[in-house]
Amino acid sequence: MSTRTPATSTRTQVAIVGGGPAGLMLSQLLHVSEIDSVVIDNRTHATIETTHRAGMLERDSVRLLVDAGADRVLREGHKHEGVALRFGGVSHRVDFEDLVGASCWLYPQTDVFVDLHALRADNGGDLRYGITETEVHDVTSDQPRVIYTDAEGATHEIVTDLVVGADGSRSICRFLVEGAQTYFREYPFAWFGVLVEAPPSAPELIYTRSERGFALVSQRTDTIQRLYFQCDPTTHVDDWSEDRIWEELQVRLTGEDDFRLHEGRVIEKAVLPFRSFVQTPMRHGNLLLAGDAAHTVPPTGAKGLNLALADTRVLAEVIERKLLKNDDTALAEYTDRALARVWKAQHFSYWMTAMLHRHDGATDFDERRQLGELTSIVESRAGSTYLAEGYTGWPRA
Ligand SMILES: Cc1cc2nc3c(=O)[nH]c(=O)nc-3n(C[C@H](O)[C@H](O)[C@H](O)COP(=O)(O)OP(=O)(O)OC[C@H]3O[C@@H](n4cnc5c(N)ncnc54)[C@H](O)[C@@H]3O)c2cc1C
Repeated sequence: MSTRTPATSTRTQVAIVGGGPAGLMLSQLLHVSEIDSVVIDNRTHATIETTHRAGMLERDSVRLLVDAGADRVLREGHKHEGVALRFGGVSHRVDFEDLVGASCWLYPQTDVFVDLHALRADNGGDLRYGITETEVHDVTSDQPRVIYTDAEGATHEIVTDLVVGADGSRSICRFLVEGAQTYFREYPFAWFGVLVEAPPSAPELIYTRSERGFALVSQRTDTIQRLYFQCDPTTHVDDWSEDRIWEELQVRLTGEDDFRLHEGRVIEKAVLPFRSFVQTPMRHGNLLLAGDAAHTVPPTGAKGLNLALADTRVLAEVIERKLLKNDDTALAEYTDRALARVWKAQHFSYWMTAMLHRHDGATDFDERRQLGELTSIVESRAGSTYLAEGYTGWPRA
């Protein structure tokens, strides 16, 4: 029990801890259903708006944004109708539209955040950023409370019907789920990611398997590229000069088509360790988890942001039934319905990762088997269709 004395107390129906894509989208969906919420986040708007993360939206994520009223993605996003798998120095295009009649949209997570925040702020959302010291209490009672400190040091209390933990991969809320089971997988490599001042080197993403390891050619804008290459997780960004970065990337992309990356100034570099993680159940009493708070995936399949948004669609529906229709069975459905998609995405991300990365200690057999797998995807319509369906997002059940 907190001993902090609150300066203010707010009553709401849903307190949302975490104002990233999951928290904001949920708040918007609840608003449409005339359910009150308060969103708190311990980062500032400026920090979130400038932290580069995801960039690829599935078809249904775009639909969700557009239906919610955030349609800038259709004007400023880039529609991608396929990706290339590159191995043995040759690119093979997987045509999503031809295979499954769907596309993805390249649209930075920073823009998703800006759009959702603006939408909620315009329709009167109670959004509190830059807070500290979040505490969540009494989640098994019918009056949970969230307590936090604002930027000026004053303590505030939110009294609520439900708490949603949308507080990302370092969630504090997930630890309140008693008896939770966790599933975890670490990988012996990481991605070295760079943002580069140069026009795109390719119109669509290129997922590359090379003898020196994985590389991904992605885009951000007409003047900024996003590039990644597989690295040792203990690598430090300062170990990599611009020259070394370009040399490594170019050699991984080299091939008989003489493909060359457009080089430019590196404006951001980061090492991204990755892991697979799932926690179940995603509900404890009147606390529900959404997005990275309950599950994370390796970035290879571009699923993390999309799963976070997919959770909110299910969550908004069960919350509406609980709060507006007094359906006491609704919240109990949430975990199974959300995790059905999460486990498909876990497999897809794991599969893409295993198929494209260089594994330490891999034998000649392992290398040739990996090439056999890639060949069976690009030469087979059935194989390519599996990739296209997973990448663009499985249709909703
Ligand atoms: C480099 C990188 C590239 C990626 N690329 C892709 C991609 O291409 N496609 C894709 O789908 N996904 C991608 N992802 C994953 C994606 O960014 C996440 O899955 C997504 O942000 C999850 O959204 P979320 O709302 O659940 O969590 P977050 O975006 O992490 O939001 C959680 C929020 O909670 C706040 N918070 C945390 N703790 C507290 C607390 N105690 N009190 C209050 N607030 C708190 C945080 O400040 C944060 O703003 C990538 C991730 C990284 C790091």
